[in-house]
Amino acid sequence: MRAPLLEVENLSRHYAVRRGLLIPKRVGTVRAVDGVSFSLERGETLALVGESGCGKSTTARLVLRLVEPTTGTIHFQGEDITSMQGEPLRKLRRRMQIVFQDPFASLNPRMTVGAILEEPLIVHDLGDAARRRARVAELLGLVGLAPFHAQRYPHEFSGGQRQRIGIARALAVEPALIVCDEPVSALDVSIQAQVVNLLEDLQRRLGLSYLFIAHDLAVVKHVADRVAVMYLGQIVEIAPKDTLFADPRHPYTRTLLAAIPRPDPHRERNEPVAGGDVPSPMAPPDGCRFHTRCPFVVERCRREAPALLPVASGHLSACHLNDMA
Ligand code: SF4
Repeated sequence: MRAPLLEVENLSRHYAVRRGLLIPKRVGTVRAVDGVSFSLERGETLALVGESGCGKSTTARLVLRLVEPTTGTIHFQGEDITSMQGEPLRKLRRRMQIVFQDPFASLNPRMTVGAILEEPLIVHDLGDAARRRARVAELLGLVGLAPFHAQRYPHEFSGGQRQRIGIARALAVEPALIVCDEPVSALDVSIQAQVVNLLEDLQRRLGLSYLFIAHDLAVVKHVADRVAVMYLGQIVEIAPKDTLFADPRHPYTRTLLAAIPRPDPHRERNEPVAGGDVPSPMAPPDGCRFHTRCPFVVERCRREAPALLPVASGHLSACHLNDMA
């Protein structure tokens, strides 16, 4: 059987917290990502969702090897890339790209769009000048822009157009995986759908896989094949999208779903919603990390961490309630 495009096993990233001016002392550890495992198939979109600070963006940067893991392994296209360095790592960068949240901040304002799109081709030594120019025109066409846009600067474009340029730049080197880090959350709602539709269209045409980082479940419902829900550095539920939205098993997932605005304001919510703030990742609660906010907490939750276990085909959840179902 063909290996998944991406396989992540027990991935963690911990940061030492030091205090003191002259001789800084280690006073704690932030567990930004703590034992995360998942896989991504070719042509699939896996959404990583959760509140700000849950570890989803750090997970994406670990996968891209922009951040070194503390523990765990990452396999990409069947190859262990966990500690890849030097030339092999440089070549790997061609196969994995990222689309950033803020298209304006991620585009160099002093470069024309043509130069921005040509840069990765030069870095990876792809084609001569004439071929690169042709590729720039092709990329602009792929994302719904015109060849003459190559002469313009980022500030001459709208937010949606700038994000199209960011997507074109990611596509330039023909990657297999694109990490989409909140790619539409900085855009007007009216533009979000256009960019999401573009990403879906490109996926169909080019066979891309997306690791889609988002806090907005309404967008995820549209774009994802599967969804992994993260809380305080860990995955607490993972399932095919339709299953997760129709039959969420983890109380935190239910809280996130209950927070999606509904078109009918008269329809009542009957889902208990978690209260309080997310605890510090420097001192995550013992037992189930969600127990300080969970409306269903029982004594066992305070002492024993629930494992992420199957509750149905392809559907895993980490909650003691599953034992009682
Ligand atoms: Fe809530 Fe307990 Fe389940 Fe954690 S294990 S989500 S505290 S019921």
